[in-house]
Amino acid sequence: MMNKLLQISMLGVFIISACQQRGDNKMAELPVFNQNDMDLTVNPGNNFYLYANGGWMKNNPLPDDKSRFGAFDKLAEDNKEKVKSIIEEVASISGKKGAVSQQIGDFFSSGMDIDAIESAGIKPLQATIDNINSIDNKDDLIKVIAQLDKEQAFPLFYLFAEADMKNSNMMIANIYQNGLGMPDRDYYTEMGEHAEKIRSAYVDYIAKLWINMGSKNEVAHKTAQSILKFETRMALASNTRLQNRDPQSTYNKVDLAGIKEMASGVNWDIFFTELNIPVPSDINIYQPKYLAEVAKMVQDEDLDTWRKYLVTHVVREMSPYLSSDFEDANFEFYGKTLSGKLEQEPRWKRVLNTTSGALGEAIGQLYVAKYFPPEAKMRMELLVENLRIAFGQRINELDWMSDSTKQKALDKLSSISVKIGYPNKWRDYSGLRISKDSYAENIINSNRFDFIYNISKIGKPVDKEEWHMTPQTVNAYYNPSANEIVFPAAILQPPFFYMAGDDAVNYGAIGVVIGHEMTHGFDDQGRQFDKFGNLNEWWQPEDAEKFSAKTKVLVDLFNSFVVKDTINANGELTLGENIADLGGLNISYQAFRNTLKNKVEPAKIDGFSADQRFFLAFARIWAQNIREEEMLRRVKEDVHSLGEHRVNGPLPNMDQFVKAFNIKPNDSLFISNDNRAKIW
Ligand SMILES: [Zn+2]
Repeated sequence: MMNKLLQISMLGVFIISACQQRGDNKMAELPVFNQNDMDLTVNPGNNFYLYANGGWMKNNPLPDDKSRFGAFDKLAEDNKEKVKSIIEEVASISGKKGAVSQQIGDFFSSGMDIDAIESAGIKPLQATIDNINSIDNKDDLIKVIAQLDKEQAFPLFYLFAEADMKNSNMMIANIYQNGLGMPDRDYYTEMGEHAEKIRSAYVDYIAKLWINMGSKNEVAHKTAQSILKFETRMALASNTRLQNRDPQSTYNKVDLAGIKEMASGVNWDIFFTELNIPVPSDINIYQPKYLAEVAKMVQDEDLDTWRKYLVTHVVREMSPYLSSDFEDANFEFYGKTLSGKLEQEPRWKRVLNTTSGALGEAIGQLYVAKYFPPEAKMRMELLVENLRIAFGQRINELDWMSDSTKQKALDKLSSISVKIGYPNKWRDYSGLRISKDSYAENIINSNRFDFIYNISKIGKPVDKEEWHMTPQTVNAYYNPSANEIVFPAAILQPPFFYMAGDDAVNYGAIGVVIGHEMTHGFDDQGRQFDKFGNLNEWWQPEDAEKFSAKTKVLVDLFNSFVVKDTINANGELTLGENIADLGGLNISYQAFRNTLKNKVEPAKIDGFSADQRFFLAFARIWAQNIREEEMLRRVKEDVHSLGEHRVNGPLPNMDQFVKAFNIKPNDSLFISNDNRAKIW
């Protein structure tokens, strides 16, 4: 739960998954290019995404329980079966109480025990609700908020330990806005029919939760309206996603006296006493305006509204894990209205995600033992170093950067540390109480366990060995405060990584992923951190200016992409990811050409040249079908561009792509030489 708050830049959205299983313990090899996956009737210069993926899209229609389904997602989906087999295997061992096998097995079974979940209804939350309803003054209110934080409910703000942005060796406390039921502040503030429709569905959802708890229809709707009003006040004080991408303005380090001054409406002495932790000497407030406003709300909103808000918040957060009346209401809003899904995923997949979230590294340890071949790690290490060399060559050749900034950039590049596959030491889950009896209680216990695990790091040195993704996750990330790139085991398989594939394909896919993560250290956000991971200006001012002007070309290009009717892609919000995609492509292409130095050009395979295969392998990763609701949601919330734009956006900026597919000036994707974005 905490990971989404770290400043890490991921390749895509979070997906839990596992590796392809094969009896011989090897990665499954799929045919690299099947022409049936392409649409050769499309002119690649008009829509390369469709040319490369049209067949795949036709052959892989959206399942009813998916809002988006792509080659990336398919890998994740296929592998859930394998994680399931691990879980079933350990569940059958019936380990002694407290053993990892007992924890994994019982967590999963508790989630599959529909009878117990149905008959419990709201009961697992009753003590918490009673506690909230007993609040009768503002000091009690703060106490209960602290108690809820210990269960990671975080009704006012997230509270977590993270490396100090300006002293990356030390963990400090952080406060980050939270509490809204809709996934972005814009849902509360936007005008227009679509926004109204979503708000009204949200009110119905909140009302349904209250009806499930025994309220009369009319009363429940009145309560829901008051919740919308209350949360709108929070939303108006919240940062936008764009503002949250700015590390400078979100770095506001204070001590106890400072937070008291900034947010005097909260009794911070009571808060920290109730949390039962030492008062942190340093607290970074990501959004001071937001914190000041909720502190004011503590004082001027009445207790009745507060009690109702807290009950709503807790029940809403837990509704996916309660009886079907709560779970269905949750799906109706988040699954159907916001994402356009037609039905829920099978129960075992939902429970598997939760189990993998609670016991991620315990499952990961079993997973790599079974599915991750050491050869894959060696291949990756070589690829990473080849990419690093190519990136260094490109930095040396930049025509827009001064020598002194170049030296520092090269220094930062050579300092990037690399993690591949799985952590060197595994997290210890002993002390986490898990039973077969109650799914909701297991989740609450796990949340309490994670809260203590995280919060006890405050004031201590950063543990550089720690991972922020599990090995069974199909994804990768760059962590600016550690200046590190991380590739979990599960991403090292097709369509990203082909153990037996040719270089063109591997550089086009996993090579670009590596380059993407490296470039995050040099995107509009990551470039503000130095080689030690500290927020610290290391650029000459004129180089920084030239960089901004260069990225503006990319902002304008993505702003011009139409998502639907009058809604366009958001070039500012997705800038970091788009810089990383373009940089990743350029760097990996150069690394690929380096492997061919002094060699004869490889023969065509399946009718495609090596360069063409490089670009096709890249495009294949982003093949996907997506629902309209999901597109609209992502344009608002996701820092990553839509699949089609991740292909058709960066590629036409590359001279080698234009040449490989003979893109002509009158083709729709063509960008004239002067207007091509060239950054890294
Ligand atoms: Zn990324």
